[in-house]
Amino acid sequence: MDQYKMIIGGEAVNAVSSEWDTVINPATEEAFAEVPSADYADIEKAVAAAKAAFPAWSKLTPGERSALMFKLADALEAKSDLLVQVECQNAGKPTKLAANGDIPFAIDNLRFFAGQARSIEGTSAKEYVAGYTSVIRREAVGVVASITPWNYPFMMAIWKIAPAIAAGNTVVIKPAPQTPLTTLIFAQTALEVGFPAGVINAVTGGGPGVGEPLVTNPDVRMISFTGSTRTGKRIMELAAQKMTRVHMELGGKAPFVVFEDADVEAAAHGAIVGGYMNTGQDCTAATRMIVHRSQYEAFIDLYASLAAKVRVGDPLAATTDMGPLISQVQQERVAGFAQRAKDAGLKVALDGGIPDGKGFFFKPTIFRDAPLDSELMQQEVFGPVTVVVPFDTEEEALAIANDTPYGLAASVWTNNMARAWRTTAAIEAGTVWVNDHLPIASEMPHGGFKESGFGKDMSRYSFEEYTIAKHIMFELEGDVKKAWHAAVFYDPE
Ligand code: NDP
Repeated sequence: MDQYKMIIGGEAVNAVSSEWDTVINPATEEAFAEVPSADYADIEKAVAAAKAAFPAWSKLTPGERSALMFKLADALEAKSDLLVQVECQNAGKPTKLAANGDIPFAIDNLRFFAGQARSIEGTSAKEYVAGYTSVIRREAVGVVASITPWNYPFMMAIWKIAPAIAAGNTVVIKPAPQTPLTTLIFAQTALEVGFPAGVINAVTGGGPGVGEPLVTNPDVRMISFTGSTRTGKRIMELAAQKMTRVHMELGGKAPFVVFEDADVEAAAHGAIVGGYMNTGQDCTAATRMIVHRSQYEAFIDLYASLAAKVRVGDPLAATTDMGPLISQVQQERVAGFAQRAKDAGLKVALDGGIPDGKGFFFKPTIFRDAPLDSELMQQEVFGPVTVVVPFDTEEEALAIANDTPYGLAASVWTNNMARAWRTTAAIEAGTVWVNDHLPIASEMPHGGFKESGFGKDMSRYSFEEYTIAKHIMFELEGDVKKAWHAAVFYDPE
């Protein structure tokens, strides 16, 4: 079984406790790797290393940081085959998704932030008060704790680390315990291309004994988190104790609104990829199909018949469309949603469920006509279980679309330009697509409204969040008594 090491202070290390955690392949249920089982002591070491590395790293020129990041991107690209293989084995991703999506897209994102490093700027330089010149500097924050989930392990590591280091911060990343491997390869590769010790530290292990000491460490200045809304709230409570900055990318329950003028065939295909990419374990996944009554039955027939053709199976097979869920816990969680919906009498349009055999698989499952306040319309399932409901008016469609605690992503399907402008403005979500669902770009921000969190990943908006705006004000005259002092000390002249 392969044993991986953590990266702390420029060295590949085991846990202080010398304990190991096993890593499971969700397609076979077999353990295939081990990672160090970190605890409080390892977190202390990693944060201390990041703190020690910060002064020198933040003082490098943007060009020097950028050059190293481009070098890292090239080195990771050279390891693409390994990254694809490990990501598929560890996260159950279909090979075609990892090879054509996750890995190259994440490397593109790293290159975007390597470029962004050189565009750090303050926008003001002016006499906003007579006799004084004001300028803005953007400063690095310090040590950033990054906590990532298991659905896109390598991509999430880059979304968190790249903007942070580009802006001059140092990082301690804790990947999800289910999927630590490509994050460790990333941190190891950074050392190989010459990143200074302590700039990128990666610690493994699971449970509150690892994550909580990291987010409460007094030397951590910012916490960047992607995961469930429940855990996001817990981290915010902990962060409040020391007023640590937080950046939260949380759950979603994306509406997928099909108007009467839409191309129903295109919408049905969009619902398949939008809902089942990554086995539905995607915070922007299309989960609530809200369809005009005139198109309702036609949409459901086509959507269910296409969903039945999704090829579920071995992630390593070139033709597999959908791999397993990440774990038995997640499989039971998803099955629980489907069972409770059936128990509540919801109508089934396609009954997929758990197939026979090994692996945490779950086949596409579609419910219809759900009450708007039902669990399936309100809660994040994070698996291939979706729901279709009808509407009659645009106003009603928008009300249903906005009627959840979440606000991460949405799509509208229409060929009416004015309606597309109206409805995309009215939907409370960080991303709204027109006539597709899911595509993203490194240049564009990703992040939510409402309980989907705040703070953007990707784009220059993300880069800015890993900096603090500082106002510097120069007095220009050199007078002992400045005119405004009279408001406090002596009489006006
Ligand atoms: P979590 O949000 O609990 O886990 C995500 C990450 O947070 C993991 O690295 C986890 O590591 C860490 N974490 C958990 N608790 C703490 C804590 N108190 N302090 C610091 N770090 C912590 O998600 P789950 O794995 O439990 O998944 C449950 C549900 O969450 C899913 O079904 C899905 O609905 C949602 N989810 C949403 C994601 C998204 O992209 N928005 C991603 C993943 C899940 P550890 O477990 O070791 O503490």
